[in-house]
Amino acid sequence: MIIRPKVRGFVCVTAHPVGCAAHVQEQIDYVRGKERLEGGPRNVLVIGSSTGYGLSSRITAAFGAGTNTLGVYFERPPAEGKPATAGWYNMAAFDRFAQNEGLYTRNVNGDAFSREVKKEVIDLISKDLGSVDLVIYSLASPRRTHPDTGHIHRSVIKPIGRSFTDKTVDVDKGLVQEVTLEPASREEIDDTIAVMGGEDWELWMRALADAGLLARNAATLAYSYIGPEVTWPIYHKGTIGGAKTDLLHRARRIEDLLKPLNGLAHVSINKAVVTQASSAIPVVPLYIAILFKVMKEKGIHEGCIEQAHRLFADRLYQGGGLECDEEGRIRLDELEMRADVQDEVARIWKDITTENLSELSDIEGYRNAFLRLFGFGLKGIDYERETDLLVSSQHFEASTS
Ligand code: NAD
Repeated sequence: MIIRPKVRGFVCVTAHPVGCAAHVQEQIDYVRGKERLEGGPRNVLVIGSSTGYGLSSRITAAFGAGTNTLGVYFERPPAEGKPATAGWYNMAAFDRFAQNEGLYTRNVNGDAFSREVKKEVIDLISKDLGSVDLVIYSLASPRRTHPDTGHIHRSVIKPIGRSFTDKTVDVDKGLVQEVTLEPASREEIDDTIAVMGGEDWELWMRALADAGLLARNAATLAYSYIGPEVTWPIYHKGTIGGAKTDLLHRARRIEDLLKPLNGLAHVSINKAVVTQASSAIPVVPLYIAILFKVMKEKGIHEGCIEQAHRLFADRLYQGGGLECDEEGRIRLDELEMRADVQDEVARIWKDITTENLSELSDIEGYRNAFLRLFGFGLKGIDYERETDLLVSSQHFEASTS
């Protein structure tokens, strides 16, 4: 079948298997172009490993340090003439590339919030690895079925306390318009914390600790974002920020749990990048399009793989002590938050309109990055060619040669 992008709002409902494989390959090549990571982890569990930050973290561990990886994700396989989700293709490609290198790779495709998936992962670790020394928690989900109550919590992206009006962009149509978001109710705030906060992270760590599967000096990380004030009402000070504050509390509780193992639990503040999760947040895509322009002009642009590699090479496994901010967070957002970058973004933010969108922002770069998440727009791929929905590595190699 010939697969083309079908963008519906902030998602693309199709994905290209060969393009997704090429996207994974590009990230592997990036990591391979760097020095090998010495002293990296032996066995890593990545929860949310199929796209975005989790995928790049897994690639960095596997191809940068030769680490055994186990990935957990929730992705749809191909069915009845419908392509799989991008994350499913990413994981199929990752597996093939890792196996070609002789690297251990296993996956559990299912609901990470459930007891069943935790049990499946625990059984796999006991059988195959014995223990893990790094657990990366990189889930972004719109809902969570609570394992005790069966209640379905839905996360919302809303301000807290008062309504908020600002500019946003319809990326597909290139329209800059105003959006007003009403404040969240108490219930919505709590639901968002239940989905995107740290309760599930803590449940994972307790389950692994109870099963005796955490190695001495084991570390665990969850990812978060702060960003500049222009995005605060919708992010840092909004419902999602409330959930991220919960992550910080949970990190302290997890660190207590890991004390007997001399373990670490940290929240890592990463930069804003284009992912399926960030595309769904109003205001943020316009901010990212401007940020891309400013950071590219200054030669300091980064995507997920650059951030993940810096996290491993310059923070976690650099040989010295781990540097954190006053709240114990790892900071990978220092380039985004540089005063010269933010001053420029703020100046552009005031002036940006539909008419000057292409001139004042890197909306084109944003669109390309978005389509690439689904395997479209990658170099060397013949998108006019019939593609097997169940991709194979031979297919990828044939299509790019
Ligand atoms: P993403 O949408 O690319 O990835 C989400 C991952 O979670 C996927 O692997 C998906 O399969 C998995 N997932 C979702 N629901 C699941 C479930 N029920 N069970 C199992 N797996 C499930 O998102 P992302 O942007 O990479 O976000 C990952 C983390 O990074 C989030 O905590 C996010 O807040 C944080 N972060 C993102 C940005 C950004 O700009 N995108 C910046 C800083 C921090």
